[in-house]
Amino acid sequence: MFERLLSNFFHYVSANKTLERFFRKHGKALGASRFVAGERIEEAATVVKELNDRGFSATVAYLGEFVADEEEVHKRADVYIQVVRAIEKHKLNSQISIKLTSLGLDISTELAQRNVHRILEAAGEAGVFVTIDMEDYSRYEKTLSLFEMLRKEYDWVGTVLQAYLHRTVDDLNELNRLNPHLRLVKGAYKESPRVAFREKSAVDEQFRRIIKLQMLNGHFAAVATHDGKMIEYTKELAREYRIPKDKFEFQMLYGINRQLQHELLREGYHMRIYVPFGEDWFGYFMRRLAERSANAAFVLKGIFRK
Ligand SMILES: Cc1cc2nc3c(=O)[nH]c(=O)nc-3n(C[C@H](O)[C@H](O)[C@H](O)COP(=O)(O)OP(=O)(O)OC[C@H]3O[C@@H](n4cnc5c(N)ncnc54)[C@H](O)[C@@H]3O)c2cc1C
Repeated sequence: MFERLLSNFFHYVSANKTLERFFRKHGKALGASRFVAGERIEEAATVVKELNDRGFSATVAYLGEFVADEEEVHKRADVYIQVVRAIEKHKLNSQISIKLTSLGLDISTELAQRNVHRILEAAGEAGVFVTIDMEDYSRYEKTLSLFEMLRKEYDWVGTVLQAYLHRTVDDLNELNRLNPHLRLVKGAYKESPRVAFREKSAVDEQFRRIIKLQMLNGHFAAVATHDGKMIEYTKELAREYRIPKDKFEFQMLYGINRQLQHELLREGYHMRIYVPFGEDWFGYFMRRLAERSANAAFVLKGIFRK
């Protein structure tokens, strides 16, 4: 009940301009930096460096999605290229994660394709791996086909499969021939029951299934979850089938379940942290707060102290 109230509150804040101004002004003091690396590339680089020094690898994501303006789309691709160069310059252990709707997918597939090509060329020169995030179902097929096309040309590109979709196992089997490097997640968008499971148990069951398929197929599996049960399942699989630790990794979001991140690292697993940055941090920050009352509690304390 309390969780639902808080979640509604933060969804309300994200849609209210006055409250948005308040949060934007006081965001840092209210704890946004727990989940977001900052607004600028240098700030993201500093956070990644700190994570690397503690043994984590990273993937840097420039916040922003659903961009409808062509000029803006080109600017965003340029920022990603600058991120790639910063990773190379500072010798960071980091990949990047990109969203196709920030690179022109909603304007035309060709535009997104041209921008991803530019990013992949720069990433290839810098030795940086690129993951194409999976967005909502209306962009799913376009994203998969673009990935299939790019994968034939580039070794350093991967994408994401979402366990909540009914069709995911078929897609994983279809992609198998490409030796794909996949991030596996439960899925983050509100989808229709026509295409996605609603019940947590069904999502979890399919999540286990795709983790097992990807690992037993011998392709790289990035298991991106904060769910201890899914993590235990992955570890058991690896033990049972003697899958070496360089064939899979765990991924979590910056600032979430830090204790578990450290535990996995101590146990000798590869642990990659998703590090978001950019001027568009507000919506991302609100989503993280809406997800968990524990995250919200310290922010609310901050508001009432002001
Ligand atoms: C690195 C990474 C990349 C991702 N990329 C994509 C993508 O490209 N496309 C996509 O659709 N989705 C993506 N996701 C999101 C994913 O689909 C889920 O929505 C998200 O990870 C929550 O599901 P969960 O597996 O953590 O399990 P849940 O069942 O949601 O959570 C399990 C447990 O994790 C902990 N937890 C979860 N969230 C929080 C939180 N905010 N604060 C504190 N504790 C928390 C709690 O203990 C909770 O009980 C990504 C997630 C990660 C970690």
